[in-house]
Amino acid sequence: MDNFYDMIIIGGGVIGSAVARELARYQIKIAVLEKNLDVCYETSGRNSAVVHGGFAYDEGSLKARFCVEGNREMEAAAKELDFAFLRCGKVLVGNTPEDMEQLKKTMIQGEKNGSRGLRLVDEAELHRLVPAVVGKFAMFSPASGILDPFEFTVALAENACQNGVRYYFDHEVRAIERESGGYKITTRPEGAGETPSGPEGGEVFRCRWIVNAAGLNCGEISHMLGIKGYRVIGSKGDYLILDKKTGPLLPMPVYPVPSNTYMGIHVTNTTSGNVTVGPNAELVTDFAYYGVPRENMDYLAESASRLWPHIRKEDYIRNYSGILPKWVDENGKIQDFKIEIREELAPRAVNLVGMESPGLTSAIPIGRYVAGMILERESFPENKTFNPLRKGIPHFQNAGEQERQALIAADPDYGELICRCEQVTKAEILRAIRNPLGVSTLSGIKVRTRAMMGRCQGGYCQMRIAKLLQEERGLRKAEILHNRTGSRLFFGSIREEAGHENT
Ligand SMILES: Cc1cc2nc3c(=O)[nH]c(=O)nc-3n(C[C@H](O)[C@H](O)[C@H](O)COP(=O)(O)OP(=O)(O)OC[C@H]3O[C@@H](n4cnc5c(N)ncnc54)[C@H](O)[C@@H]3O)c2cc1C
Repeated sequence: MDNFYDMIIIGGGVIGSAVARELARYQIKIAVLEKNLDVCYETSGRNSAVVHGGFAYDEGSLKARFCVEGNREMEAAAKELDFAFLRCGKVLVGNTPEDMEQLKKTMIQGEKNGSRGLRLVDEAELHRLVPAVVGKFAMFSPASGILDPFEFTVALAENACQNGVRYYFDHEVRAIERESGGYKITTRPEGAGETPSGPEGGEVFRCRWIVNAAGLNCGEISHMLGIKGYRVIGSKGDYLILDKKTGPLLPMPVYPVPSNTYMGIHVTNTTSGNVTVGPNAELVTDFAYYGVPRENMDYLAESASRLWPHIRKEDYIRNYSGILPKWVDENGKIQDFKIEIREELAPRAVNLVGMESPGLTSAIPIGRYVAGMILERESFPENKTFNPLRKGIPHFQNAGEQERQALIAADPDYGELICRCEQVTKAEILRAIRNPLGVSTLSGIKVRTRAMMGRCQGGYCQMRIAKLLQEERGLRKAEILHNRTGSRLFFGSIREEAGHENT
């Protein structure tokens, strides 16, 4: 039976992909069902991209444990999987006696959690660390860092895939039924309307184990598994992205003093040299709306300018937002990560609920933990051919002169620039188009190469990339999608030319 798997992971974000990679170390037939057309479309590609130190979470919580573990092993992971990670440190900046009290509490909690090297710094040292910041003192966390969340997620997914995991995109899980020895899962493609799923409208999969890594839809999938009653609320955070010229003014993320539930609007340096500003925190019920209203942009700029007064409208490149899935109790109190197997309700199903921040930092240890829960209950032989190493696309922009010459000598397509703003070459675009996961959207190429992420946002290169995509994949123009089903770039032709295919 083709669609039978030992294990099906629902959700191909950073956590589903980390779980998939970890399980690929064993001889297990694994599939990931993902409703979007790529691995980074939801929360894993919509966050602050900070590798947290682990001081902000309650002592003894899974959040604290996995965050500290994930933080410690990030260099090793970045080396194995070839993604950008920078252990640049981070400061939490205060001004008042109350701020100082809160920072001291945070520091004590952090030390108990195992965060390394935390210390309070005075104004002079704060300005040595981040000259352009405004504040009287700070808590400095040298172990905090930043990564590229797209590269990280893609790297985990590609490595899982190279080790035998099969990714199915455009497969939204619509129903789960228990059957003897396992589960029957029915999916449907996005935009299929409300046609009944099943052989007519969707595809059927069978498996013995299920992992619910559905992020914002974790409550819905829990419910389908028969585990009812989880209350998951959405907290939406908006961001601004600033031009790279602001990057040199910010060597590390600058945060305000946190409250117990919210880290506050911060400014964050990125591995690509831009700066992000955000997020606010707005409770939302619509988990699919990612727009950023103008007043929110103004609010972000105004709030963050109190910490770092270098935010100017002419430096705005674009905005984005992300939604945190927070599991809350009946009083609305935010809960820890929930990772469970409810033998009585859904045996052989690992249910992950409320995987909010620090889920990015924690993804690899979460993957190990989930694999451990499964292996405690069923043993699988080791996959002797598992290869933990994955090579990303060498980026022309990051290469030194000699390295650039070597890249061009090995592949002349490295000599042709396609995206001028981010200096992305034809060779990188072609490698991204030939990605092992088979993703074929423009945004898939964007997150793998940074083409279209620069100042002109694709004004110069988008059509060239669309053409390469068409040629390489043998697509018709009408089949080129921006990011989701239906997000077509071309809808028709202005004039028909003999011998040219226009739509
Ligand atoms: C504003 C914000 C800031 C953050 N900042 C940080 C930070 O600085 N550091 C940090 O460590 N963490 C941060 N996080 C948290 C981190 O981004 C998340 O914890 C992490 O990305 C969660 O990963 P995930 O794989 O569970 O979720 P997702 O990336 O959402 O993946 C879940 C996947 O499941 C798919 N899916 C859902 N339902 C179905 C279905 N029915 N069928 C098939 N597929 C389905 C979705 O399409 C999605 O791709 C932040 C989050 C937000 C929103």
